[in-house]
Amino acid sequence: MDELFATVRNESAVTLDGVTVSLLLNAGLSADTDIAMNDTADGVGLFRTEIPFMMRDRFPSEQEQVTSYRRVMASYVGKPVCMRTLDVGGDKQLPYFPIVEENPFLGWRGIRLTLDHPEIFLVQLKAMLRASQGLDNLSIMLPMVTSLDEVRVARKMLDRAWREVSAETADQKGIIRYPSLGVMIEVPSLLYLLPDLAPLVDFWSVGTNDLTQYLLAVDRNNGRVAGIYDALHPAVLRALQQIIDGARRYAKPVSICGELAGDPIGVLVLLAMGYRRFSMNNSNLMRIKYIVRQSRSDELQKLLQEALSYQNTSVFKGLFGRYLEERG
Ligand code: PEP
Ligand code: MG
Repeated sequence: MDELFATVRNESAVTLDGVTVSLLLNAGLSADTDIAMNDTADGVGLFRTEIPFMMRDRFPSEQEQVTSYRRVMASYVGKPVCMRTLDVGGDKQLPYFPIVEENPFLGWRGIRLTLDHPEIFLVQLKAMLRASQGLDNLSIMLPMVTSLDEVRVARKMLDRAWREVSAETADQKGIIRYPSLGVMIEVPSLLYLLPDLAPLVDFWSVGTNDLTQYLLAVDRNNGRVAGIYDALHPAVLRALQQIIDGARRYAKPVSICGELAGDPIGVLVLLAMGYRRFSMNNSNLMRIKYIVRQSRSDELQKLLQEALSYQNTSVFKGLFGRYLEERG
């Protein structure tokens, strides 16, 4: 099977009826793998910066961060690289910064932690900006955003980081562009704030892993309730439809960076809804490209309407599963 998928390595991700989609990489685990994928991925849709932080025994310095971010950005020249600010807490712990809480997934995570520690946040923002000197492919994304004020404060921090780094590098070659700033949509509160969020950010990316967890109130890592965790639950499907509708209404670029984008049935459902940018782990990318190239978006749209009309999750999945099987 892998050999079959490898045949599409240098092809573009276009459906049989001519819809081009972007297949991006979820990066951060291995710099070498991230770089090796630069010929087949359309860019990096999610760089999980906490992973290099987790592999150390202390916070990386600003210069160490610059080096690691720069390697990835420089290997994707001409393609977008979306760096997410530190998303520790929940299931992601730093050995040198322990967080002990009763309910870690509802606790001090992502942007909540970095806004409480502006020194960590500012150093990271500056490192991303410095790493982008002379390049124009950086965008920055905020994880675990719950409220508009978090975005406003983060934007002010980015303004400050950009002013300071620009002043410090004014006599050097290569300007530092002000990057696009976006948020992860993964806390359900944002579903109700899309009209207010739109003017504050440049793009949205849907974190289906956490969005599913928080919509269904089910720990994404707890085997005992794994049967309830379902990224194709009707409520999650409605949320996903609402986000793409909002993205169209407010002309906001939107992508999916949760596991659903790298799932064969998931990507078909998302394509049917109108999503066109998918970010996934390197192990899924070629397979998803192969599937996209075997599909027709007009058929998928019809299939989605039909599948939803049954109001039955197994029938829904069965119909998309059959479509997938028929296309090998
Ligand atoms: C998500 O929640 O879907 C996501 C992409 O972020 P992470 O898995 O890193 O929490
Ligand atoms: Mg998440």
